[in-house]
Amino acid sequence: MFLLDGKKAANELKAKLIEDIKKYNKGRNPKLAILISAKDSGSISYLKGRQKLASEIGIDVDVYDCEHFNQDEMVELVDRLSNDNSVDGIMIDRPLGNNIDEEVVFAHLNYKKDIDGCTLHNLGLLYQGRKCHVGATARAVLELLKYYKIPLDGENIAVLGRSRNVGKPLFLLLNNEDATVTLCHSKTKHLPDICKTKDIVIVAIGKKELIDEKYFNPNSVVIDVGIHYDEDGKMVGDVKRSVKEYVKAISPVPGGVGPLTNIALMQNLLENYRGDDIGGTTS
Ligand code: NAP
Repeated sequence: MFLLDGKKAANELKAKLIEDIKKYNKGRNPKLAILISAKDSGSISYLKGRQKLASEIGIDVDVYDCEHFNQDEMVELVDRLSNDNSVDGIMIDRPLGNNIDEEVVFAHLNYKKDIDGCTLHNLGLLYQGRKCHVGATARAVLELLKYYKIPLDGENIAVLGRSRNVGKPLFLLLNNEDATVTLCHSKTKHLPDICKTKDIVIVAIGKKELIDEKYFNPNSVVIDVGIHYDEDGKMVGDVKRSVKEYVKAISPVPGGVGPLTNIALMQNLLENYRGDDIGGTTS
């Protein structure tokens, strides 16, 4: 079994980001605005992770505490940042506060600064196969597959999970890479049989270690997107740990997709900073 080490990939992509920021210098550092509403330990830890990575690669971060914002205040801030030329990327952490309609807020977010690919505009561009910002988790999966030079063109891939943030964007992203993608969900019949016939299986179902050996064959490449904690507080995925003894290649949890998600966010931000043609005709 070959381990698809996301930390190794993240370190190399991080070095490339540092190089690119120097190369495309616009006389100021790139700037990321993070809007945070929830202050639980998970949200704070994600925030710290992003701040640390940004400072290591030379991106300035402004954090906006929106915990007590109402919808009008949130919209006003998103409008202001969307029109501020010194801001290259905006990350709106969810969930937003009570009585705030996410769709209304995201409709005000400039799609070029939407570095987590949440706006309907970016999702529409992805649908059309045009250059866009793809959600960080979906992009992280693609970066991991590309880093390990796993062929996608013409390959048969099953994506397990059809959430708006992970499964569906992955389905479109991999389709745009000329893979043949089967999008599966909780109502899919004969799921183990479907997965067994695929070259690559990507699991994003949010069910702790539910997926076992019967879903795979010895040549399967497996990407486990899941994040859970076992009874000892150890991080585990959607795929049973024992599967690694059986398949050709697998991404570990922790240390697989996770380390690449913040890298993917910064890659999206850098594309806007250097003036890529987001919305252009090629993806
Ligand atoms: P989600 O919104 O809960 O969606 C789960 C999807 O899985 C749904 O489409 C659901 O189908 C499907 N599903 C549930 N049980 C299933 C089963 N037994 N067989 C087949 N499909 C099943 O979850 P998410 O936000 O996409 O996240 C998925 C996992 O990725 C979670 O463990 C989450 O913690 C993790 N995650 C990791 C990262 C990272 O950086 N590594 C980032 C984001 C999320 P229905 O649509 O039919 O309900």
